[in-house]
Amino acid sequence: MRMSNMYMPTLREVPAEAEIPSHQLLLRAGMMRKLVSGVYSYLPLGYRVIRKIENIVREEMDRQGAQELLMSAIQPKELWEESGRWSTFGPEMFRLKDRNDREFCLGPTHEEYFTSLIKDEVKSYKQLPLNLYQIQTKYRDEKRPRFGVIRAREFIMKDAYSFDKDEEGMRESYRKMWEAYDRVFTRLKLKFRVVEGDSGAMGGSSSHEFIAMAETGEGVIAYCEACDYAATNEKAKVVYNIESDEAERELERVHTPNVTTIDELQEFFNIEKNRFGKALVYIAKGDPVVVIIPGDRELNETKLINYLGIPEHELVMADENIIEEITNAKKGFTGPIGLKDGVRLIVDSRITRMKNIIVGGNETDYHIKNANYGRDFKGEIAEDLLLVEEGDICPKCGAPLKMDRGIEVGNIFQLGTKYSSSLNAKFLDEDGKEKPFIMGSYGIGVSRTVAAIVEQYHDENGIIWPLVVAPYHVIITVVNSNNEEQSQLGEKLYSELINEGIEVMLDDRNERAGVKFNDRDLIGIPIRITVGKKAGENIVEYSLRKDNEKIEISADKVLEKVKEEFKKEGLKL
Ligand code: ATP
Ligand code: MG
Repeated sequence: MRMSNMYMPTLREVPAEAEIPSHQLLLRAGMMRKLVSGVYSYLPLGYRVIRKIENIVREEMDRQGAQELLMSAIQPKELWEESGRWSTFGPEMFRLKDRNDREFCLGPTHEEYFTSLIKDEVKSYKQLPLNLYQIQTKYRDEKRPRFGVIRAREFIMKDAYSFDKDEEGMRESYRKMWEAYDRVFTRLKLKFRVVEGDSGAMGGSSSHEFIAMAETGEGVIAYCEACDYAATNEKAKVVYNIESDEAERELERVHTPNVTTIDELQEFFNIEKNRFGKALVYIAKGDPVVVIIPGDRELNETKLINYLGIPEHELVMADENIIEEITNAKKGFTGPIGLKDGVRLIVDSRITRMKNIIVGGNETDYHIKNANYGRDFKGEIAEDLLLVEEGDICPKCGAPLKMDRGIEVGNIFQLGTKYSSSLNAKFLDEDGKEKPFIMGSYGIGVSRTVAAIVEQYHDENGIIWPLVVAPYHVIITVVNSNNEEQSQLGEKLYSELINEGIEVMLDDRNERAGVKFNDRDLIGIPIRITVGKKAGENIVEYSLRKDNEKIEISADKVLEKVKEEFKKEGLKL
């Protein structure tokens, strides 16, 4: 492609709304543009990257025997009512009506649709296993769209659905998808980890997330170096051993004027944070609940949502008015003793093993010392509501856990029969009995993956595309386009490389050399040929975006060098 003729609107300034490198660079490099919050267009350069990722995904899905099709984004309400997700999906679902007032949604995911597609056509175990996938646009009205295409409201996802006759078959389908994902992200040169994920909202028994490591990632993971345990912080089980054989002391009411936070309380009482019972007040599906956890820990809302068995959007923090109503005290003095009748009290199991803790007094400016579970208060006991922390004990081997951050680029789920049962999708098994399909579902965020690659591959000057996904493989910069020798040699190399099937950009623009060099750094084309002063001697400069080491070579050697680089990257021409 000749750059003189290319739609590549680069920006010199960093767009104000872009907080992280991938968002800034994808906008600056003219790869994408925002329409409205969370809705993006992929411009020519960006779309080439998208298509390359899609093709790798396709190849690896096909290799595992999955078959591609394409479904509609529009789905009728009735389908979602059958699974119950019309209501549980909540405000994240884009909804619309047709001219006859019939209700639809723009698909945020397609479990229901795929299940209904096959249910009348697949009748026998002989037609199983089956794995169908698509690469398609998904819609989610995210609460906080941000980081560009990382958390968008319209995005491209590869979604696959497997149907098996039994659990064993489902586990094999799951293994195959795991392998496909492993190969996809390896081919994309991403540094990633596979971690246990929470499958609460999706239903089903087990799930794993593929996390591309990045400091800017929203995903937090805990992992163990001594064994292979790794999980998202939503999922990670917290081992928090607290046992006390202290004798129970008498309750004591303590005047604590304006002392409300755990930090302030620690200072006031001059005692460790783990001697407090921290109270959090939520509204769950309209009703208040008070949750008590050890004072030195944070609550894991995903675990609370799973414990309560409610959709995520049905859990909100209670405001001060509600807190005052159920405790008769100002915020900061909530505790488990003396709550208003009927208020649901949930305690993390660790609280039941702590002795003589300090809790809010449910009276403004008062706390209570020496509270003991069983003697002074009782509630529902939840095994584990705590958020994992660096240094916590690995639930598998006991070594200390480490924490890291990343971007969830893929997610695989063992669903079991949640959707086939509710949609009444059954097949006839060998024994002549009707059984629901055993399902799995598998997603890759294709557009999010573009950004994940940029997070891992960039420097202060721009993007550094790995060759495998680069919008073009080679860029030829003609330093002075008005110089006949230079433009001719540029043109010659351009056709020579194109004839070999190499994707080439030719910077034939009438711009200053500095502008050309800045642009090529910004858009991150991996292999660079600079045609400059030595064009007359048939000599050009060869360099790679990733290391910037410049060498002078004969123009006759360019093709050979480019082919060498393809070989090094394990790519065929
Ligand atoms: P998240 O936890 O990040 O909200 P999710 O768990 O809801 O994602 P899935 O339902 O598992 O997402 O979707 C499959 C894949 O689609 C994710 O692994 C992710 O890569 C991608 N994805 C999900 N939501 C978005 C979004 N808002 N924008 C871009 N990609 C997304
Ligand atoms: Mg997910």
